Amino acid sequence: MTGTQGVQVRAAAVAVIGGGIAGLTLALALRREGVDCTVFERSPEPAGAGAGLQLAPNATRLLHRLGLTEALRAIAVLPRALRLRGWDDDRPLSTTALGAACHRGYGAPYYTVHRAQLHRVLREAVGPGQLRPGHRLTDLTETPGGVHLTFASGARIRADVVIGADGVHSAVRSWLAGDARVFSGSSVYRGLVPADRLPWPADEPEVRVWPGPGRHLVCYPVSAGREISFTATVPARTAGEESWTAEGDPAELAAAYRGWNPTVTRLIAAADTVRRWPLHDRESLPDWVTPRVALLGDAAHPMLPFLAQGANQAIEDAVTLAVCLGRAAKADAPTALRRYQELRLPRTTLIQRGARESTRFLHLRDHPKPSGPHRPGAPADPRGLAGLRAMSWLYGHDAEAAARREGAGQTAS
Ligand SMILES: Cc1cc2nc3c(=O)[nH]c(=O)nc-3n(C[C@H](O)[C@H](O)[C@H](O)COP(=O)(O)OP(=O)(O)OC[C@H]3O[C@@H](n4cnc5c(N)ncnc54)[C@H](O)[C@@H]3O)c2cc1C
Repeated sequence: MTGTQGVQVRAAAVAVIGGGIAGLTLALALRREGVDCTVFERSPEPAGAGAGLQLAPNATRLLHRLGLTEALRAIAVLPRALRLRGWDDDRPLSTTALGAACHRGYGAPYYTVHRAQLHRVLREAVGPGQLRPGHRLTDLTETPGGVHLTFASGARIRADVVIGADGVHSAVRSWLAGDARVFSGSSVYRGLVPADRLPWPADEPEVRVWPGPGRHLVCYPVSAGREISFTATVPARTAGEESWTAEGDPAELAAAYRGWNPTVTRLIAAADTVRRWPLHDRESLPDWVTPRVALLGDAAHPMLPFLAQGANQAIEDAVTLAVCLGRAAKADAPTALRRYQELRLPRTTLIQRGARESTRFLHLRDHPKPSGPHRPGAPADPRGLAGLRAMSWLYGHDAEAAARREGAGQTAS
């Protein structure tokens, strides 16, 4: 290939493309399973961007087991509840208990964190030795004996197994599936507000959700309570670039929420800058793996952020894949990758669908002036315990236990 001749070909057992949430968690989980890997990240100076992320027990139990408990506690907030509120009058509509009730019920906490801080925690845990910044994958060729990778720098590498953890614009997915993204018709504005500018007391850590006519807004504390992160979803005619750093127009955002209750409008006004992310969706793939290549995280199953599960599912994927690869003999990577897909694809497809369907209660169409709770059971559930129990399909899942059970079954049969 022009420009790459003479570049030495190096070898990697497992090459992970993309050092985001999925790729870094995979590196940590593979280390625990005794599998060697190298993470190739396109950015020359990897640093997480973005705003808030909600991490539910289905992911935090896995991160804790990877040794990150103390590091996460230093950056996280433990919201005590998730509350739906009226878009016009800010009245509480329904509650899902989080905090101690969530920890008791699911054996792991519900955190809200800044994405950049989570990225730093993962990066520091992985360490510089396995991370190769400034490596943007441009091409790959799979042969029965290995996968040959070419990077924009001209570097070429041969790997036994390649994992595409390269996010919503995945080059590995383009190679594997060649499918197209579809603009969802909505954009998300994300902003950060210092906690001392808040229109409510900062010592009430909650996830607040205001469903409204054709749009909704979510906010929660991050950065150990020093900042509030909000995401405001609005209808949009045009898409534009999906990027953690694309600027948004604060005036456009304020106009989109004109007439909403003063808590919302003051929160929006308190943000100095906002970022805009046009939301794209993709159909689920029937196959994420070839004999030596697999997709992970957003590359495998990008999802609308309405169930707040994209990063959580990336973490579940990473631990599952590491367990599968850890159990496989080197020659049996194809079986490990297929087992990973069998374990993960049905669950992530369900969650992708659930995220799409969440707009039914988040974006009010028929009842633009809500007169009651929007979740079944909410009136009889003022403390939100039934609401929390209703999340057991999502928060109660232990991806690592499922993968280890599956492996034990295979060995026994
Ligand atoms: C507004 C919004 C709110 C969200 N809120 C939540 C939430 O509350 N909870 C939650 O769980 N999820 C949430 N998500 C989703 C979550 O952010 C993603 O699912 C998560 O970041 C996916 O991780 P990933 O590692 O797959 O991708 P990314 O974190 O995007 O990482 C991909 C990495 O690959 C690198 N890369 C890309 N191309 C190449 C290449 N060719 N070569 C080498 N490297 C490459 C990139 O630089 C990047 O570092 C939200 C998303 C949005 C847009």
